[in-house]
Amino acid sequence: MSAELAFNRNIDVDYGVPEEVAPCVRRIVANNPGPYTFLGTNSYLVGTGRVAVVDPGPEDKAHLEAIAKAVKGERLTHILITHSHRDHCDGARALQAMLGGEIASFGPTASQRGAVAPGLSYAFVDPAFVPDRTLTDGDTVRIGTLTLDVLHMPGHAPDHLCFALVGKRTVFTGDHVMGWNTTVIAPPEGNMADFLASLERLMLRHDKTFLPGHGGRVQTPQRVVKAYIMHRKWREQTILACLEDGIGTIPQIVERLYGSIDAGLKDAAALSVLAHLEHLAARELVAASTGSVSLRSVFVSRTS
Ligand SMILES: [Zn+2]
Repeated sequence: MSAELAFNRNIDVDYGVPEEVAPCVRRIVANNPGPYTFLGTNSYLVGTGRVAVVDPGPEDKAHLEAIAKAVKGERLTHILITHSHRDHCDGARALQAMLGGEIASFGPTASQRGAVAPGLSYAFVDPAFVPDRTLTDGDTVRIGTLTLDVLHMPGHAPDHLCFALVGKRTVFTGDHVMGWNTTVIAPPEGNMADFLASLERLMLRHDKTFLPGHGGRVQTPQRVVKAYIMHRKWREQTILACLEDGIGTIPQIVERLYGSIDAGLKDAAALSVLAHLEHLAARELVAASTGSVSLRSVFVSRTS
């Protein structure tokens, strides 16, 4: 089993310029590049005449004005949010003030939000985000002659939705499956068991194209989803191997698996390892010394 995932990162981006990426779908990339956003957040315009935006992106004046310019002469009917992380949803109210349109998302979740490591504060989540309309799995959204099926795909975030363009075998995957990297699963915001179940659900579909929240179009969706699943299984095995060798704390496991990486990435790596250990503990394959699973627990394997 290999950890290598092949991504096409050679894409050119013209910030603010709409590009047709599928029939009836235009993409505008926000100028918010970074370690978790790649070149920036993708906002998609779905439909012609009557248009929905999938992810308005950050509250960035130039980006929102680019969206407004692109839909000039058309009617914005919906502002759809894949999940309430600030790089996807912050621009929603400002865009609505400019163009109208109903803001729709999964809505508030009961679970605790954010991430627990000091370097990854709660800042990337908008816990107060409330849409005009809540959507749930199985709902549909009509945009002119187009229909989007709503798929609840928790894992990266508890409120994560994907939107499937009916009859086009095309899915807007947000941060659930991305075009440039593996997805961050950071507890308690992220949940590995949910994430893997959501990937298995995508495997059962036979889509042709994924349009992710960051990075380019994914033209081999089944292969990428399978690689995501294999990557997580491989990672789980490497963590179990650490425990077999008596390496039982998260900082030690991160040191062994990632070597010397900078402090910010170390926090993200620690949370990713925690997400795996939570999933292993839930299946009684590992046990935590403290009883509860946390960044400070000492873990032992129960497989041998
Ligand atoms: Zn996200």
